[in-house]
Amino acid sequence: MPNPFRKHTPRRTGNRRSKNSQLHLGGQSRCTNCKSMVRPHTVCKECGFYGGKLVIAKKEKKAKQQEGGEEQQG
Ligand SMILES: [Zn+2]
Repeated sequence: MPNPFRKHTPRRTGNRRSKNSQLHLGGQSRCTNCKSMVRPHTVCKECGFYGGKLVIAKKEKKAKQQEGGEEQQG
C-alpha cells in the first residue's frame, strides 16, 4: 500500500482553514434608484433608498472647486 510521502505543511493547512472562515456576502441585487450593487434587504449605501423610498438622507458633500487646475480625463 502506498503511503503519503509527507503530511501537508502548516502553511497549506492554514491556507485551507482560512478559506472556511471567510465571510460570505451572499447574493447581491441592484438598487432600484441608483442601480448600484446592494445586499438584499438592506438600505442602499450610495443613495439611501430602500423599497423605492428615501430612508436615509444623503449627506451633502461640499464641492471643492480647484481654481487654476485643469481636470484630466481619461
Ligand atoms: Zn441606491
